[in-house]
Amino acid sequence: MSCTSVAAGRLDTLVFDDSYVRELPGDPESTNTVRAVYGACHSLVVPTPVAAPRLLACSREAAALIGLDAGECATPRFAEVFAGNALLPGMRPHAACYGGHQFGQWAGQLGDGRAIVLGEVLNAGGARWTLQLKGAGRTPYSRSADGRAVLRSSIREFLCSEAMHHLGVPTTRALSLVVTGEGVLRDMLYDGNPQIEPGAVVCRLAPSFIRFGHFELFTARGDEYTLGKLADYTLRLHFPELGAPSPATYVAWFHEICRRTARLVVEWTRVGFVHGVMNTDNMSVHGLTLDYGPYGWLEDYDPLWTPNTTDAAGRRYCFGNQPGIAQWNLARLAAALRPLIPEAEALQEGIDQYARTYAEGWRAMMAAKLGLSAFEAEDAARVETLFDMLRETPTDMTLFFRGLAELAELPGGVADDALLAPLRVAWYAPPAPAARERLLVWLRALQMRYARDGRPPEERRAAMNRVNPLYVPRNYLVQQVIDRAEQGDTAGIAEMLDVLRHPYVAQPGREGWAAPRPEWARNRVGCSMLSCSS
Ligand code: AMP
Ligand code: MG
Repeated sequence: MSCTSVAAGRLDTLVFDDSYVRELPGDPESTNTVRAVYGACHSLVVPTPVAAPRLLACSREAAALIGLDAGECATPRFAEVFAGNALLPGMRPHAACYGGHQFGQWAGQLGDGRAIVLGEVLNAGGARWTLQLKGAGRTPYSRSADGRAVLRSSIREFLCSEAMHHLGVPTTRALSLVVTGEGVLRDMLYDGNPQIEPGAVVCRLAPSFIRFGHFELFTARGDEYTLGKLADYTLRLHFPELGAPSPATYVAWFHEICRRTARLVVEWTRVGFVHGVMNTDNMSVHGLTLDYGPYGWLEDYDPLWTPNTTDAAGRRYCFGNQPGIAQWNLARLAAALRPLIPEAEALQEGIDQYARTYAEGWRAMMAAKLGLSAFEAEDAARVETLFDMLRETPTDMTLFFRGLAELAELPGGVADDALLAPLRVAWYAPPAPAARERLLVWLRALQMRYARDGRPPEERRAAMNRVNPLYVPRNYLVQQVIDRAEQGDTAGIAEMLDVLRHPYVAQPGREGWAAPRPEWARNRVGCSMLSCSS
């Protein structure tokens, strides 16, 4: 074994770059005090050490992205570094400066109030992974908050980031989850009952954490210099395939963001994910799912559902609004890029590309979910009827599509009960007689459509099971993992992560991880209701 291979994979052999700090204007002030920061993309700030860091979970797949041996994650030094108590050579910790529209309103400067980027790892394949701690202490952007994160929301972010990756949905990644040994005061329901909760730090990975809100802030302040610097940097580092920065490249870049965002929302729709807080500061220019807060997974199909109690009245960010909100957010980004792209038509073309990419992607995705090799004009009505029926008879979306794959193999003349049998598990209440009839008619029509489609049944079933997951991080299951962890039994985190590694493959003995929401969880806090308090 050569010396290099002995050393490879260790914390101390990670190679860090600091391009974001090095190439972009920084905050001239170095004190860690809350303030407005002008003309800067970042403020240097080190994580605030915590009392007793202890690793609760780590993702070996995320570790592999930065070339780290999974064994290294078990070392005390790993917990120290990823709690923010120790820095590795080459790290340049900083918090980013950005703004954003929150719930439709311009909110001004926001910035990383509790996230601190440690540095950028260049892996052996040449890919750049930015490492960011969430919950690492106050920064100049913390406003009146404490810079910390609680265990429950950190478990949620850790598990869902990795689950999304395994589901094939673009996302930031989660390397580690460390408890701090310190308490954090939170009023979970904003009802005047603050409690001390365990604190935690998650290390997230992404090519960068550059958000729509970065560009919005500089344009809102008339700071075209910093806007241009950041745009050029983003293009050079993260979109080199589009060519050197120029007015034409800015246009191509905006169009690329529009298409990536469309594909992202199609994927959320496919798996039944509700982000919960699609503010423009939570939108990644890479088209990744970013900032897991009060997110949730559809149980009974309801396009008006949002897990976010803070948004319960307006339902701005409910499941069915996500495509329209993504477009609204892109329009805010377009406005922010206006100083770089003066032609309004070029910006409008990006928005149009979003709409087209979404519509095409949605049709292809729905065809795949239904087991059809292509989406035909008549399928539009079929899908509309389907979603009407899923609303009429409260039906678990995830289990319905898995059940449908069983049906894809049944012969044409099968009896009614046999036709419905694979779908029963998905019903939260049995269908009324008229709804049952309607569903049977729909299923028989689908069987005829399958016959015309002509794919061998086994092939169709297998294809459906590759796009319709069996295991998703169901709201109540994640909450059970949290409840256990808060009682000291943290094994559930690794158990759930292990199931979610293979979301499309039935895992004998693990049926409980695919079970529909039990009645007790219907209106329980943490299961179906979450606030932004995290
Ligand atoms: P979010 O809704 O989590 O995306 O957060 C919106 C803004 O609030 C961002 O600027 C966050 O950095 C900031 N923020 C949220 N929670 C905290 C906290 N506990 N301490 C400091 N800043 C926070
Ligand atoms: Mg955020």
